[in-house]
Amino acid sequence: MTTKRDYYEVLGVGTNADDNEIKSSYRKLALKYHPDRNPDNKEAEDKFKEAAEAYEVLRDAQKRQIYDQYGHQGLEGTGFSGFGGFDDIASSFGDIFEEFFGFGSKRRTQNRRQRGSDLRYDLTIDFMDAAFGTETEIDLEKMELCPSCEGSRCEPGTSPESCGHCEGTGQVSRVQGFFTVRTTCPYCRGNGQTIVSPCNECSGRGQIHVSKKVALKIPAGVDTGSRLRLTGEGEAGSNGGPHGDLYVFINVKPHKVFQRNNYDVMCVIQISFVQAALGDRVTVQTLKGEKSLDIPKGTQYGDTFRLRGEGIPSLRDTSRGDQIIQVDVKTPTNLNKKQEEILKEFAKLDSDKLSSKLKNLLKGNSSKKAQ
Ligand SMILES: [Zn+2]
Ligand SMILES: [Zn+2]
Repeated sequence: MTTKRDYYEVLGVGTNADDNEIKSSYRKLALKYHPDRNPDNKEAEDKFKEAAEAYEVLRDAQKRQIYDQYGHQGLEGTGFSGFGGFDDIASSFGDIFEEFFGFGSKRRTQNRRQRGSDLRYDLTIDFMDAAFGTETEIDLEKMELCPSCEGSRCEPGTSPESCGHCEGTGQVSRVQGFFTVRTTCPYCRGNGQTIVSPCNECSGRGQIHVSKKVALKIPAGVDTGSRLRLTGEGEAGSNGGPHGDLYVFINVKPHKVFQRNNYDVMCVIQISFVQAALGDRVTVQTLKGEKSLDIPKGTQYGDTFRLRGEGIPSLRDTSRGDQIIQVDVKTPTNLNKKQEEILKEFAKLDSDKLSSKLKNLLKGNSSKKAQ
C-alpha cells in the first residue's frame, strides 16, 4: 500500500485552518476532480477520493483531533478507512454535495409544503377616498386549490401510485465511467409517486385559475405608495402549504384644488392686490367644506396660512395634518380710465421710489390733462 499524503497538504490548507477554509478548499478540489468533469481519468478519480477522505477527517472535530495527534495510524485504529467510490462519497457528504453540485436537491423541494405566492394589485383611488377612507371590491385573478381534488391532483376516489421507474425512491442511477451517479427520476420528478388518474377538473395540477372578488377596506390617510396587506389572499400553497398574501399598492389621483404633503393638504388661493393691501375675509375650500380665512393687511404674494387640523387623518394615530393655504396676488388687468387715474394718483404719493420712466409717464399724463 502506498503511503498516504498529509490531509492538510491534500486540501492545501494550514494546520490551523478553520472549518470554512477547509470546506472551501475541499469544494474547489471536488469540483476540479469531479468524475462528471473528468470521465475515464484515473488520476482525477484518485485525487477526488483523496480530497474526500481528507475532508471527511478534517471536517469532523473528533477525527481531526485524533489525526492531529496520531496521524493516519490513529484513524485506522478507529475503523476509518477512506472511501470505496463515488456513491460512497456522495452518500457520506449528501448535504454538501447538494450544495456543491445541486444533486438530488429537487427531491427535497418537490414534496415540501410550499407557501403560495404573494400577489400584487395596483389600485388607483380618488383623492377624497384617500382622505376619508373607503370600502371597495377588487377583482382578483389567482390560483386556488382545486375544489375537486383539494390539491391532491388525483381524480377523487383514486390515489397516487409508487413510481415504477425509480421504485418510489425518486432517484435513478446512471453509470458515468467508473462511478454510478444518482439523479432525480425524470418520470416522477423526484416525487417517488405517479398519478395514474389525474384530476379532471384541474388536469392534475392541483390548482385552478379563479377570478375572485375581494372586499377591501381602505383606511383614511393612505397615500400614493401605501401598501395594504391582506393575509392569506395570495395564491394557494402546494402540498398543503399556506396561502400567500395579497399586497394592494395604492395610487392616489391628483385633485384639482388640493395637493398633499404627507398629512398636510396644500392649496393656492388668488386674491386681488387690494385685498392683499387692505386685508379681507375670504372663503376657502377645505376637505370638509368651505371655511373663512382672514387675510391680514399687507399680505404678500407667496405668504402662507395654516388651518390647523384641516388636513388628512394620520394612519398611525388620531392626529390630523393641517391645511396650508398659499396666497397668489393677482395684478389687475383691463383697468378702466378712472381706476388708472386713481392708481397714478396713488403712485405720486410715493413717487420717490418710482423709476424715471414711470415718473415721466405720470408727468406726461398730467400735462396732457392740463391741455
Ligand atoms: Zn383537481
Ligand atoms: Zn420515479
